Amino acid sequence: MSTSTGTSTSTGTGTGTGLRVAITGAGLGGLTAAASLHQRGLDVRVYERAATLREQGVGMHVGPNGTRLLRRLGLGPALDRAAVRPEALEVRALHDGSLLTRQEMGAGWQERFRAPYLTVHRGDLHRMLASLVPPERVRTGKELVRYEETVYGVVLHFADGSRDHADVLVGADGVHSVVRGALAGRDEPVYSGNSALRGVVDAADLPHLDPSLMYMYAGPTTRVLLYPVSGGTQFTYVVVTPAPPGADESWTSAGEPADLEAVLAGCDPALGRLAHAAGEVRRWSLHDREPLPNWSTARTTLLGDAAHPMLPHHGQGANQAIEDGVALAICLEEAAPGADGIAAALRRYEGTRRPHTTTVQLGSRTGRPPTKENTMNNNRNNNSNNNRNNVNADSVSWILDNDVEANLNNNNNANNNNLNNNNRNNVNSAA
Ligand SMILES: Cc1cc2nc3c(=O)[nH]c(=O)nc-3n(C[C@H](O)[C@H](O)[C@H](O)COP(=O)(O)OP(=O)(O)OC[C@H]3O[C@@H](n4cnc5c(N)ncnc54)[C@H](O)[C@@H]3O)c2cc1C
Repeated sequence: MSTSTGTSTSTGTGTGTGLRVAITGAGLGGLTAAASLHQRGLDVRVYERAATLREQGVGMHVGPNGTRLLRRLGLGPALDRAAVRPEALEVRALHDGSLLTRQEMGAGWQERFRAPYLTVHRGDLHRMLASLVPPERVRTGKELVRYEETVYGVVLHFADGSRDHADVLVGADGVHSVVRGALAGRDEPVYSGNSALRGVVDAADLPHLDPSLMYMYAGPTTRVLLYPVSGGTQFTYVVVTPAPPGADESWTSAGEPADLEAVLAGCDPALGRLAHAAGEVRRWSLHDREPLPNWSTARTTLLGDAAHPMLPHHGQGANQAIEDGVALAICLEEAAPGADGIAAALRRYEGTRRPHTTTVQLGSRTGRPPTKENTMNNNRNNNSNNNRNNVNADSVSWILDNDVEANLNNNNNANNNNLNNNNRNNVNSAA
């Protein structure tokens, strides 16, 4: 489906192209799915509960596993304009700012992973994805409250009393997903023991920092991440620090500059400037959920945070949502006709995605790939930064190398080869 130039070559002629797909939630995951389904010729509708399309939050990392898919969707030039490709990550001591290690990234990582590692403002990426979906395909002010799935289709019920119908329902409605609740039952958030204070500051207010670099100031339990966004004119900061339980599973609670000052007191004096320059401070209480044992029925499935909310230690929540969106579009485009074809396509999607996202979800608790040992106790309250400071290319290649589109195409080829071999064997045995 893609060329080496990174352009999608989908023809939109797959057998699933007659399907009407409803997506609840116009976040980064829902919009990626919508853009990818639309480009493949499916009849897609997005239902967003907010009155206008917008994205909360600050900056984010988009790994090569995400950027290669975004470029194939056609967002290469827009990313080149708005995002930053950091040249390196410097890990510094929190107490005095001394350099502990430097990981070169930039062109080296781009070559190694066949796509760039970028930092971007979430609002910029959200606008880019929204530009790929025709406005008449997105309905705002539509909060899904419940749905009914039958053998013939799915009926969606909205808070304003209206209804709509679809062949397939995709729950991309975030961590408090209505669709997840109906599909998988109620489950509780798992608190990590940490909260994150975060926001954006003008790069000019932090003249000691180089806007072509990412920084991690690492202490025994607290760490400060700083990375450039908006073409290098701003830095996003994320200060992760232990905090008692009790806060909401929310991204958007208000924090105070005084909270930032208190956490950064006694740290490298250069970080004191951050506390002074910070305007609006948000507090994110770091929760995730246990991985689901399954997330699809015959006509309904989940993606992104609705399917696998994860901690940010690998910077992968949105990247995995992007991978989900593209994988789902491929599986639905290639669905065989009829209800059985839809069910098989959703099984194929979940079978491709769930094992991988489960590994990333569990690995995000510690910042390293999960092993039997470190997932047995789930590391929920592991506040140590020892693993999280290990950010060399090898330690994250299991995530960044993933090309979900190529994997699905390769599986197709392998299946076709098996089919051809079987046919050949049948012919041979018949002879
Ligand atoms: C501070 C911070 C830093 C992060 N850094 C990174 C990073 O560097 N890299 C990365 O990959 N990820 C990062 N993440 C995680 C990432 O942002 C999320 O995993 C990702 O945004 C999830 O996207 P989503 O589309 O699944 O869900 P959401 O973005 O939560 O979108 C869900 C949408 O559904 C809508 N909705 C909800 N309920 C309903 C309903 N009932 N009906 C209709 N619509 C509904 C919501 O209004 C929203 O628009 C970070 C997160 C935070 C908070």
